[in-house]
Amino acid sequence: MKGAKLVLFVTGLCQKRCFYCPISEKRKGKDKSWANERLVKSPDDIIKEAERMRSLGAGVTGGDPSMRLKRTVGYIKLLKEHFDPFHVHMYTAYPLDKKALLKLQGAGLDELRFHLWGRDIWKSIERAVALGIYTGIEIPAIPQEEQKIIKIANQLGDVGGGFLNMNELEFSETNTQAFKKKGYGLKSELSYAVAGSEETAKNVQKALASLDLLVHYCSSGFKDSVQLRKRLKRTAMNIKRDFEEVSEDGLLLKGVIFPDTKKADLKLLRKELIEAFQIPENLMAVDGAKKRIETTIEIAEALSRLTPLKCSIVEEYPTGDRLETDVIPLGPD
Ligand code: SF4
Repeated sequence: MKGAKLVLFVTGLCQKRCFYCPISEKRKGKDKSWANERLVKSPDDIIKEAERMRSLGAGVTGGDPSMRLKRTVGYIKLLKEHFDPFHVHMYTAYPLDKKALLKLQGAGLDELRFHLWGRDIWKSIERAVALGIYTGIEIPAIPQEEQKIIKIANQLGDVGGGFLNMNELEFSETNTQAFKKKGYGLKSELSYAVAGSEETAKNVQKALASLDLLVHYCSSGFKDSVQLRKRLKRTAMNIKRDFEEVSEDGLLLKGVIFPDTKKADLKLLRKELIEAFQIPENLMAVDGAKKRIETTIEIAEALSRLTPLKCSIVEEYPTGDRLETDVIPLGPD
């Protein structure tokens, strides 16, 4: 809820083929790890990303992390040794034997969320509960599957599971065709949620009110507007430099200055601007990757009037890929 957990995508591998699988084409079936939006090239990238957002924990996901158990155990250990306190939960749709569970527990795993698939999973849930791992089930609320979900919840209660999480079913680039075939529609024009999913979840919650099991429901709107926004804001506040502002949505706002030519010496240009306009050093930096100088919005506005330089206001994600969402060119009025 605080958006304080790193999303650690261990691998895109998974052979379950759920019709609702939301994993993007970029990640699906590819054996690559991602820490939030950062491609993991070395374990150091995971630590850096967790530090960027002052992370208090991680959700270990995929694909299915258990397809790369050794890697998953290594990542969990790395995070638990580096940060304290740090809460790690992991998702899996595969049965895990006692050996695998002990390895995960030994690495410091706090919580296991089974994505229900096949009868073998129940034995794994019992094993995990017996070992003292906080264990539950997380599934999408598929429209009109109330009875099936209620049955799962009752069985989970019987084997000592701690919680049932239901997520609102959502359209994604990779499941749209399958959803259309099933006749699913959008809940509203402003949302990717599937119509009827929320009703199913709420009916289940009502029916299970007296069961001694935590039954959560996470709407698609909550995930995007609360959880994601809080994660972005948390990261942005932590990494923002003196000349950057953080928007309500957790994006970074700043002024940027482009040189006249691509070959211009950006360091020299920065030095000349600082000297000519008496700009404090901490309010101007060279962005080598994007071949520009970054500064405050006010300084960029002033320079756009006082010099022939091309200046803009830029809004970008505080993520590894620094995706730009808006560029507003500035110029003399
Ligand atoms: S178990 Fe998860 S990752 Fe695997 S196919 Fe199903 S939704 Fe996708």
